[in-house]
Amino acid sequence: MKAVSYLGGGASKTDITPSKVICIGRNYVEHAKELGNEVPSTPIIFLKPNSSISSQLTAEGMVNGQSEAHHYESELSFLINQKKIYAVGFGLDLTRRQTQQQLKEKGLPWERAKAFDGAAVFSHFVPVDEKDIPQLSLKLTINDVVIQQGGVDMMLFKPDTFITEASSFLTLEDNDILMSGTPKGVGAVNVGDCFVGEVFLSDQCLIREQWFAV
Ligand code: ZN
Repeated sequence: MKAVSYLGGGASKTDITPSKVICIGRNYVEHAKELGNEVPSTPIIFLKPNSSISSQLTAEGMVNGQSEAHHYESELSFLINQKKIYAVGFGLDLTRRQTQQQLKEKGLPWERAKAFDGAAVFSHFVPVDEKDIPQLSLKLTINDVVIQQGGVDMMLFKPDTFITEASSFLTLEDNDILMSGTPKGVGAVNVGDCFVGEVFLSDQCLIREQWFAV
């Protein structure tokens, strides 16, 4: 089983094994618009399996014998316990956009575009107090250029609504991860790109993680 790192109090590091990753789609209005999608009235929820979790950022993968680019979506990601958020991390929801587009046109499930091995890339996670969640935001920098910025204040569905909605039809196991959607600015990953993901509590940087795309 794949694991993520949790840096708890006193910098002790623990491996956490989520049973699944629960994702929300189109949770930022500007991102829904950039892909030409309508803004949803109820949260769009999909899953990534434990096997999709990775700490490595891959620029492409093989689909039907051909290489397809991966697109990044940077997302505030949360670890939960007893349906409550206890930690935050920086996540990249990697997407095979071309495959997703073909599946969407046919009304087919998205797993081939969203649930492949390595499709859920995470930084380490750090504790967060529930009352601080509204002040969380993220920033993605690629090759020293700021590409994506967003925060809980810009989300259509806030994390508590997302938890209520998801747990209305599936069980949130302890240590499952919630990915809370991406702001505008998605695009393709290129081999050699330097990605820096940061999570902020107001203006305090909680997490800064760097990946080189392979
Ligand atoms: Zn996403």
